[in-house]
Amino acid sequence: MKILDEILDEKLTLSFEVFPPKNDSTFEEVLQATEEIAALKPSFISVTYGAGGKGGRYTMEIARRLQNTDRVETLAHLTCVGAGREDVRAYLQAMKDAGIHNIMALRGDLPEGMTPETMAGSPYPHASDLIREIRGAGDFCIGAACYPEVHPESSVQAEDLKWLKAKVEAGADFLTTQMFFDNNLLYNFLYKLRETGVTVPVVPGIMPITRANQVMRAQKLSGSFMPRRFTSLVDKFGHSPDAMKQAGIIYACDQIIDLFANGIRHVHVYTMNKPDVAAAILNHLSGMLGRAF
Ligand code: FAD
Repeated sequence: MKILDEILDEKLTLSFEVFPPKNDSTFEEVLQATEEIAALKPSFISVTYGAGGKGGRYTMEIARRLQNTDRVETLAHLTCVGAGREDVRAYLQAMKDAGIHNIMALRGDLPEGMTPETMAGSPYPHASDLIREIRGAGDFCIGAACYPEVHPESSVQAEDLKWLKAKVEAGADFLTTQMFFDNNLLYNFLYKLRETGVTVPVVPGIMPITRANQVMRAQKLSGSFMPRRFTSLVDKFGHSPDAMKQAGIIYACDQIIDLFANGIRHVHVYTMNKPDVAAAILNHLSGMLGRAF
């Protein structure tokens, strides 16, 4: 099934995200967490691709199991930074063979020492180049990343939006946002994106922050603005794991409720291999999702 159909459905739905391990020793743990998240039957699960283009083997294997054993629709991420044409083509063929039809097409972060200029000679300098390759490789449903607060390499939003539009023109069927902690940023972004003529669905990505030390990491990763309402919650509860977890989950639910109330029907939750967090969010929103958990 194509994930685009899930996203366009009239029902209010959530999808979750898992990430592959960095080494074999934790693969079993990741599989266990993934199965528990799959048992909650989200509308789909995305599986990230290891940073720096590493970890494709695990991404494929987790996605294959989710799709074929757990019977949950899967969105497999794929990055193209440093990737050769033959490798990408072989990987896409392997995805088809594994029955994976949905791909999140990304450039990936540039490794230390690499710049957009040094990428220029590579087969896929930008995500749009990968999207074109995937579009030509078969009947895949393709997602791409977008940044309500502007990608860190773009100096102005207009520039970022221009290249985002190029990704859609290259064949992206939908966009998923970087995490954000203030919904107004999303609403402003949507307004500006629609002004460029882009009409594909945009799936907001929400990250439940359940530990104080995640805050710094999240900010480093995404550069997201942290509103006072959010930072004061971390100040107050950050020292207590139980309180922080509860407050972070409720903050994320509050963001999701506001998104639903403002016309968004599908939200992607960065659950990061935490079945308990995924289950708690589903529980809090069960009435809106029309399901008992
Ligand atoms: P691009 O779309 O190529 O954009 C990167 C920068 O280049 C932007 O500033 C853009 O404006 C600019 N640009 C784009 N096209 C052009 C062009 N033709 N000419 C000039 N400039 C251009 N990383 C991983 O390693 N693994 C993952 O699984 C993963 N999943 C992610 C999922 C989501 C939803 C998001 C939001 C991010 C994810 N990332 C992941 C991080 C992502 O790889 C980085 O943010 C990366 O730096 C940019 O990837 P992109 O696909 O957005 O790149």
